[in-house]
Amino acid sequence: MSIKKPRGTNDILPEDSLKWQYIEDTARDICTRYNYEEIRTPIFENTDLFQRGIGEATDIVEKEMYTFNDKGGRSITLRPEGTASVVRAFLEHKIYGQAQPTKYFYYGPMFRYERPQSGRYRQFHQMGVEVLGTDSPAIDAEVISLGLQILKELGLSDLEVHLNSVGCPVCREDYREELRDHFADDLEELCSDCQSRYDRNPLRILDCKNEKCQEYTADAPEIIDSLCEDCADHFKEVQNYLQRLDIDYIIDSSLVRGLDYYTKTAFEIMYTGLGAQDTIFGGGRYDGLAEEIGGREIPGIGFAMGMERIILALEEQDVDLPLTTDLDLFITTIGQPAKETAFEYLYQLRQAGLKVEMDYLGRSVKGQMKCADRTNAQYSIILGGNELEKGTATVRNMETGEETEIKLNNLVEEMNELIA
Ligand SMILES: [Zn+2]
Ligand SMILES: [Zn+2]
Repeated sequence: MSIKKPRGTNDILPEDSLKWQYIEDTARDICTRYNYEEIRTPIFENTDLFQRGIGEATDIVEKEMYTFNDKGGRSITLRPEGTASVVRAFLEHKIYGQAQPTKYFYYGPMFRYERPQSGRYRQFHQMGVEVLGTDSPAIDAEVISLGLQILKELGLSDLEVHLNSVGCPVCREDYREELRDHFADDLEELCSDCQSRYDRNPLRILDCKNEKCQEYTADAPEIIDSLCEDCADHFKEVQNYLQRLDIDYIIDSSLVRGLDYYTKTAFEIMYTGLGAQDTIFGGGRYDGLAEEIGGREIPGIGFAMGMERIILALEEQDVDLPLTTDLDLFITTIGQPAKETAFEYLYQLRQAGLKVEMDYLGRSVKGQMKCADRTNAQYSIILGGNELEKGTATVRNMETGEETEIKLNNLVEEMNELIA
């Protein structure tokens, strides 16, 4: 029996990898314009990092991690997300000793043991940014605008920015109490997950997808009414900066993140094109995370966007990415001497930066011309005994049919001129 790829993984074949490259290049280019630098961290980390950096009581850590003991008996986990690794690297290399802020972006595969479904895989890919070393609200707005710009430059529309503040450990404690008061009388009506959340973390009841629970969360008190002065000021400033950029946003009190190290700004970019709302990516501030994994207080904010989600949205919106696979030149050959000479020319043309190809299967002239067509070659040359003897060949523009006589010993220069 032939071996198949593991469940929840994908092969990205060339017609798709072109899309991926285009999205990656666009994202990299925009990050660079915003002065973010790429960081590459290991694909596996010590398991402790994610237990502390994501939180033991989360679905990711409880159910979804690929964790195993290596041959040395260490507990290793394939990274389920990127932030914890970036913060670890920042601490490990004492980057905090340098001038701040530090603005990173990263890209790569992540791993979660989930039930595979449309747009959700066990190996998936995220592009994310993290800014460490500043709690300036201007950076929160910059991070949101950067993410939005990536989606817009890719050609996506029908996007909504949802914004909230989850406060800080101080004001959030008051809010938890308010929530418990709100749900106390109807506790038995909530789903079993939410009943256990009630004591541990009532904020997470707010983002329960259960319809019954949503009935009871509709009129729950909102966290932005409980913010302390510092958190309220920060939230106001973030909005001020977003308004400066003419970025519309919706204040969405259901945007909560359960863990204590998440602070202040939380946001999601939603795609609303299909009637239903679909989160393309989200992020937020995590001023308590570095302390959680490194014992040092470093403010931070970031987002992660899923490549598979973006590709799905691009397909749903029928966005045509400007992809090109075209060849500059296809050389059709007649006879062995011409084939050998063409082989040399290809080498020279490729060294000169052109994308060129020939036939390797001994196809007829007609078959080779078909190849030239299929590969969308911009130009083609037929090279046979006559051409070699005269030292000239005819270059045909495949689109216009226009033909140009060129000298073979000057092929690279002449081709460069034609293509320029
Ligand atoms: Zn606060
Ligand atoms: Zn629930």
